[in-house]
Amino acid sequence: MLGGGFGGLAFCHAIDTIRAEVILIDRQNHHLFQPLLYQVATAGLSVPDIAHPIRSIFRRKKGVDVRLDEALQVDVENKNIRLRDTGTLSYDYLVIGVGARTNYFGNDQWEAFAPGLKTLDDAALLRQRILFSFERAELTDDPEERARLMTVVVVGGGPTGVELAGAFTELSRFVLRRDFRRIDPAQTRIVLLEATDRILRQFSPGLAAKARKQLEKLGVEIQLNAKIRSIDETGVTLEDGSIPAANVVWGAGVRASRLCAPLPVEHDRAGRVKVAPDLSLPDHPEVFAIGDIVNLVDANGKPVPGVSPAAMQMGRHAAAIINRELRGKLNGRKPFRYVDKGSMATIGRSKAVADIRGLEFAGFPAWMAWLVVHLIFLVGFRNRVSVMISWMYNYFTYRGGARIITGLDRMFRLTNPKARPRSVVETKPGPLP
Ligand SMILES: Cc1cc2nc3c(=O)[nH]c(=O)nc-3n(C[C@H](O)[C@H](O)[C@H](O)COP(=O)(O)OP(=O)(O)OC[C@H]3O[C@@H](n4cnc5c(N)ncnc54)[C@H](O)[C@@H]3O)c2cc1C
Repeated sequence: MLGGGFGGLAFCHAIDTIRAEVILIDRQNHHLFQPLLYQVATAGLSVPDIAHPIRSIFRRKKGVDVRLDEALQVDVENKNIRLRDTGTLSYDYLVIGVGARTNYFGNDQWEAFAPGLKTLDDAALLRQRILFSFERAELTDDPEERARLMTVVVVGGGPTGVELAGAFTELSRFVLRRDFRRIDPAQTRIVLLEATDRILRQFSPGLAAKARKQLEKLGVEIQLNAKIRSIDETGVTLEDGSIPAANVVWGAGVRASRLCAPLPVEHDRAGRVKVAPDLSLPDHPEVFAIGDIVNLVDANGKPVPGVSPAAMQMGRHAAAIINRELRGKLNGRKPFRYVDKGSMATIGRSKAVADIRGLEFAGFPAWMAWLVVHLIFLVGFRNRVSVMISWMYNYFTYRGGARIITGLDRMFRLTNPKARPRSVVETKPGPLP
């Protein structure tokens, strides 16, 4: 099994380890609950709250051998994987669930100025950058520079962009409000840029309009049909103007992991592999692809979305096929059928939208439903308790807990290689990352 994400974990839980010896390889030692990454980026939760060591998840499942390594190449003809640290590994069956990465749609040069949100490191970096910007804004006497430092642009009006914009607004309006003397964080400008004519295209137009209203009530400035020409250290340049901003966050799209590109199958424009109806690679029934790297119109005739329930269901489907074949039933593989239980997006305190099997609702009930679902699916009892306590604390006190900036010296040295140590130049701030 390559990847210990949502798909990989579901596969390893479902596979019959009496008959199969499973090797689970991940380049990280932890499973990451990506739906809550934005809360780490906006200082609502701490880094360990949303991650869990993969080794610990399978400590009782003896047939799963967890290995920390990175797959560099899959050779489907010779049935082996080349690993970064531990050489080559042969397989009888291979399940690939290595997930997606940020898609800049051919503008990878923007990444340095508009980081995406896919890993814990991304979330920690974003949080550091925004908290650091407020510190810089507090020190500067230049009103234009202060405005730039206090502007956050979120690119992409999907669930991630909406959640980030809402959370940045709450961070500045409520959490940081009383912490500064010279600036008023409540004046922070949060801009959400969406390339099409509406946000949350996965939801019905009515629900998306409700989300838009809730965001605007919070103070988020939404710009639709926004066409970006460039992003650099000064901010974002659009076809019809520019937004000076020290913090730009990219939440506009994903593409499949690099590992998928050399696989001998058809790929779509986002690099996702076009699998057979049973999730195997055409001509290689022993290799399955699951989760975000897959492009599939399922047995119901609908495209399967890149969401965690789809990845989990695919992991279980691949495990069921392999379990069956290990019991000697070699024909009659079932096609994959996605069961869509609904979608949700949260906008902020008591604000969310939900579509549960066609039942649409918004506001406080949707927010409560969102909280409960995320707590249920978060991996690890300790994490659930810790997140629940943090949410209650944040809700009642209006004070997000994770606001410590670390790695400042390193951040400063990286962006100012010729600068003297920070302690000497503290009164003369250098450029922001
Ligand atoms: C910010 C954000 C918010 C989201 N919010 C939601 C939400 O609210 N609801 C929802 O349903 N979905 C949400 N998603 C999408 C959801 O997280 C993905 O659909 C899901 O994680 C896909 O699961 P996966 O198993 O395919 O991949 P992942 O969960 O991404 O797991 C891939 C695993 O593979 C490992 N890996 C990658 N490359 C290699 C390699 N070469 N070698 C070894 N290991 C490797 C990675 O370390 C990772 O552990 C969100 C995603 C993001 C980024």
